[in-house]
Amino acid sequence: MSDVRNVIVIGSGPAGYTAALYTARASLNPLVFEGAVTAGGALMNTTEVENFPGFSDGIMGPDLMDNMRAQAERFGAELIPDDIVEVDLTGDIKTVTDSAGTVHRAKAVIVTTGSQHRKLGLPNEDALSGRGVSWCATCDGFFFKDQDIAVIGGGDTAMEEATFLSRFAKSVTIVHRRDTLRASKAMQDRAIADPKISFLWDSEIVTVHGDAKLSGLTLRNVKSGETSELPVTGLFIAIGHDPRTELFKGQLATDDEGYLTVQAPGTHTNLTGVFAAGDVVDHTYRQAITAAGTGCSAALDAERYLAALS
Ligand code: FAD
Repeated sequence: MSDVRNVIVIGSGPAGYTAALYTARASLNPLVFEGAVTAGGALMNTTEVENFPGFSDGIMGPDLMDNMRAQAERFGAELIPDDIVEVDLTGDIKTVTDSAGTVHRAKAVIVTTGSQHRKLGLPNEDALSGRGVSWCATCDGFFFKDQDIAVIGGGDTAMEEATFLSRFAKSVTIVHRRDTLRASKAMQDRAIADPKISFLWDSEIVTVHGDAKLSGLTLRNVKSGETSELPVTGLFIAIGHDPRTELFKGQLATDDEGYLTVQAPGTHTNLTGVFAAGDVVDHTYRQAITAAGTGCSAALDAERYLAALS
C-alpha cells in the first residue's frame, strides 16, 4: 500500500493535464493516471487544432497534448500511463487501483476520464478521422468551406451540427436510419427550413470511401435494401457520446445520460474530496479549452479542500 498522496488525477486529456499542472504548481505533488492506450485523450486522434488559444498558426492535436504533458511534468506532476480499474472514493482517504493491482491512496481525487464518441464501426472510419471524417462541427467545420458534407444522426446534435455546417458548406445531407427525427421540434424546423440542408431518410452508411482523404459514401436504404453513392468530402458523425463513468458506478452521481454531475459552477461531485472536470461532466460544450478550463477549476477546488483539512 502506498503513502497517502494529496491528490490523484484520473485521466490525461486537456482537463487532466491542466488539473495536474495547477495542483503541481500548488506543490500538491499530484499522481496522474493517464490511461494505458489512450494517454493524451481525444486530441491524440486528430490532426490540426485551430481553436486552442495561444497557437496562432494552429497546432497538431498530439503536439498540443505533448506540450500539456510536458508542462505538467515540469512542475512535478508524476505521470503514469496506466488505467485505473477500481476505485473506492467514499471515505476520507480515497483508494484507486491500477491495472497491476497496486492500490494508491489520496485525500482528494480529480476525475477527468472524458467521453467516447460513438462510432459507426466501419473499416475506414478511424483511418479517415481528421481527413474528412469528424465528430465535431465546432472543431472542424471551418475546414469544409464550399464542400459537400454528410451528417449522420437524427437527434438534436445532428441537427445542430448540420445547421452550423451549412454556414460553410456547399451542401449538407443529413443521413438518418429512420423516417422521423428524434430531435426537438425547434431544431428540426431550423434544419428543414435551411435551403442548404437536405435529408436522406431510412438510410445507413455501409462504406466510407477514400485513401488519404474522404471521397464519398455508399448508402443503403434500410427498407428497400437499395444502395446508392453520395460523393462528399466531409462526414460528421453525430450519433452520440458515452461518458467514461462505468468505473464510478454506485459511487458518483450521474445524470440520465451517464455524465457525472457536479455542484455547478464548481467541480464538487456528490462525494467529499472528489472533483470532476472536462467531457466526463460536459455534454454541452465538449471543447479542449472548456475541458482545460474546468480542469483548472477542479484543481483549485481540490486545493481549497485540502487546505481546509489541514
Ligand atoms: P479526453 O481528452 O477524452 O481525455 C480523457 C482521458 O482519460 C484519456 O486520456 C483517457 O486515457 C483517460 N482515461 C479514461 N478512463 C481512464 C481510466 N480508467 N484510468 C486512467 N485514465 C483514463 N476540441 C477542440 O477544442 N478543438 C478541436 O479541434 C477538437 N478536435 C477534435 C477532434 C476529434 C477527432 C475529437 C474526438 C475531439 C475533438 N475535440 C476538439 C474535442 C476535444 O478533444 C475534447 O473536448 C477534449 O479532449 C476533452 O478533454 P477531456 O480531458 O475531458 O477528455
